[in-house]
Amino acid sequence: MTHRKKTKDDFLAMDAADPLACERQKYSLPEGTTYFVGNSLGAMPKASRERILQAVEQEWAHGLVESWNNADWINLPERIGSKIATLIGASGHEVVVADSTSVNLAKLIVAALQLKPGRKTIITESSSFPTDLYIMQGIANQLSSGVEIKTLDRDEIKHAVDENTALLVLSHVDYRTGELLDMDEYSNIAHDAGALILWDLCHSAGVIDVELNKYNADFAVGCGYKYLNGGPGAPAFIYVADRWIATINQPLTGWMGHQSPFEFSQKHKPADNIKKMLTGTPPVLAASCLEGAVDTLLEADIQLVRQKSMQLGQLMIELMQQFDCESFGFELVSPQIAVQRGSQVCYQHEYGYAIIKALIAKGFLADYRNPGVLRFGFAPVYQRYIDVWNLVSVLVDIMERESWKVFKDIKQQAVT
Ligand SMILES: *Cc1c(COP(=O)(O)O)cnc(C)c1O
Repeated sequence: MTHRKKTKDDFLAMDAADPLACERQKYSLPEGTTYFVGNSLGAMPKASRERILQAVEQEWAHGLVESWNNADWINLPERIGSKIATLIGASGHEVVVADSTSVNLAKLIVAALQLKPGRKTIITESSSFPTDLYIMQGIANQLSSGVEIKTLDRDEIKHAVDENTALLVLSHVDYRTGELLDMDEYSNIAHDAGALILWDLCHSAGVIDVELNKYNADFAVGCGYKYLNGGPGAPAFIYVADRWIATINQPLTGWMGHQSPFEFSQKHKPADNIKKMLTGTPPVLAASCLEGAVDTLLEADIQLVRQKSMQLGQLMIELMQQFDCESFGFELVSPQIAVQRGSQVCYQHEYGYAIIKALIAKGFLADYRNPGVLRFGFAPVYQRYIDVWNLVSVLVDIMERESWKVFKDIKQQAVT
């Protein structure tokens, strides 16, 4: 197959023909910055700003405590949850917004163990995001009933799930390599052995047309501040498949998960719907911000978002080859094939951290993960094709001029 070399004009033409191009103006993006870190903190939707101002100035300052009813603060978790549901292939009544991903993982893992009495093993991947591993370790340490966490390589999982397995916990997208796991395949592996499956959607919600119902997912969690653009520390979401809502019991039985919190009864009686997964009072301001972001995202067709995300990644890989970036020492650590990737492309380089710092100095924000991984996340609602052309051009320039060397001995900051 012969490929014509791509030019800058090709990228401008793709932007001109992009059905999602109109979405970009809905986000606040600083001049002179090109952003590839939507996988860590999404850019700010203008509607989030409006929404939080309304929440502060109207609902709080003016409406005061009355806003729990008048602005329907009390139903924010369900209301936003049902909007997120449409992005992840779930029904509106299966998703609620609450707490952080870490806390929601803890609730679901303990609940899943109780749903599978007699089964003592939880299986996960060694490449899981650390908080997922830490939460599982904490739970195993806390429960005296001999729960064992098996942390395995991906290719070992298939053979390890058995009649002792209560739960399989997997990230839909590998945060380090961008590899996308096949939901159908792993769902079947878990269910064929009578186990449950919990998906961490932190790197897929808002950018991939996730199909939780179609692939029989039992549980899922995900965060609000990555591709959902809900703002720093935005609340997370929790999904429980309809078939489990009646029977699931979560351990953090706070009053917001009570059937009628304002009865102030002494005994906890869980709500008979997804609200039973709630614990305490919802973070109204942060949730309002998230609502503005999700409303904005819902204006874009998630299938188109996924298609553009795959294209952006493919173009980056193609340009890196076109400019022979392997000769500079870059090694692709993400899958070559677009359908096997989430919305990021990652390269490994011995001086990865210094190169990221050189890119940031030029106004190209990307991030770094040990060991030596440069991550480029694509948020198709505000990313342009030309951004990819410019990124690779600047990267080539940095390598040719060796301008990254200024940053070679710089100490890693607290947040990379
Ligand atoms: C970002 C991320 C988290 C973050 O969890 P928090 O509780 O929000 O800190 C968890 N899991 C994965 C896979 C992530 O990518």
